Amino acid sequence: MAITDGLIYDWNSASGPELGLTSRPMLDDETLRDGLQSPSVLDPPIEKKLRILHLMEDLGIDSADLGLPGAGPRAKADVLRLAQEISNCKMRIRPNCAARTTEADIRPIAEIVQATGIEIEAATFLGSSPIRQYAEDWTLDFLLRTTESAVKFARSLGLPVMYVTEDTTRARPEVVKKLYTTAIECGARSIVVCDTVGHVTPAGVRALLKFVREEVVKPSGEKIRIDWHGHSDRGLAVANSLAAFEAGADQVHGTALGIGERVGNTPMDQVLVNLKLMGAIERDLRKLKEYCAVVSEAVGVPIPPNYPVMGEDAFRTATGVHAAAVIKAFRKNDVELANQVYSGVPSHWFGIDQKIEIGPMSGKSNVIFWLEKHSVKATDDLVEKIFARAKQADRVLTDAEILEICKLWRCSVSGE
Ligand SMILES: [Zn+2]
Repeated sequence: MAITDGLIYDWNSASGPELGLTSRPMLDDETLRDGLQSPSVLDPPIEKKLRILHLMEDLGIDSADLGLPGAGPRAKADVLRLAQEISNCKMRIRPNCAARTTEADIRPIAEIVQATGIEIEAATFLGSSPIRQYAEDWTLDFLLRTTESAVKFARSLGLPVMYVTEDTTRARPEVVKKLYTTAIECGARSIVVCDTVGHVTPAGVRALLKFVREEVVKPSGEKIRIDWHGHSDRGLAVANSLAAFEAGADQVHGTALGIGERVGNTPMDQVLVNLKLMGAIERDLRKLKEYCAVVSEAVGVPIPPNYPVMGEDAFRTATGVHAAAVIKAFRKNDVELANQVYSGVPSHWFGIDQKIEIGPMSGKSNVIFWLEKHSVKATDDLVEKIFARAKQADRVLTDAEILEICKLWRCSVSGE
């Protein structure tokens, strides 16, 4: 029993299990495809993509979009190398590849399957909302014909098909029903419900997925996997993804740090953190920080300091009252307690330590704690010196600044 039992009343589960899942929640990593559509990212070299793929595997992520091999020779070469890695290392992660609903995009996937001998799902995507249809001059008839020929073509090459409707969250119900039903009749065994433009709210997710389950999947009589794919334009991607699981989605898509077009996709790391905190998954997530750091470095997008869990400030405090509570908890020799008294996320679950800093809002306990952590004897005199300096500062003191005060003080005491 954890020592924090009875010390936290959890309103999140006060009215029953939070997600009410009937099966294990699955995750599809879109970092190496949709994530790379961010206008700010670099397309990483293949060595880095391989490292990212292995980190996905280590985190127990179920499947990964390896890329869109129809995009050109480099994209195809990278997808082939990633697929070879999965085969050579006997990785558990299930690969898929994106494809527009054209033979030119679908055929390269089948070629990679032939070359590697592993199964790859073809994620064929097509716009579905009236606004997109209007902009593109697409009739419903055209969409249905395109769906039918693409899914049938992929199946004829032996590829399992996940059929993706872009902008599903703004599409008319009858169109959603017709498109998915056609895809399923032609052999698709998973369907991907997309909030491509980041429009939907959790209420919309629940309504749409209920419709898909009752009006599409149930009448089909087939075992169909339902995927949810969301974007962050309204800042609701994580909440929407959790709502999707609750509403019957089998698998949710995300990218490391939420990188992706405009403001990005659902952040995979935040979904993992929440699933773990909700007790929906048990796995060890101490590699999550490495996964985020490697992706951040590989794509050239820095992690903001206030980013949940992974940001530099996520577990840093300089405030006197907060730090005092954390320090008292540490003094009870209980990491679990210390890491939860002022944070909704226990940092050690993710391999991260809390940091007590010294700044103008700090109390003397911050100083004493900092000195002890750095194996410096906390005499009253030295504590007073650092505390006085911090009170005059307009920001948190750096480690180098504090060590310098310690050094000067030691010299003055020893008369050097
Ligand atoms: Zn997307």
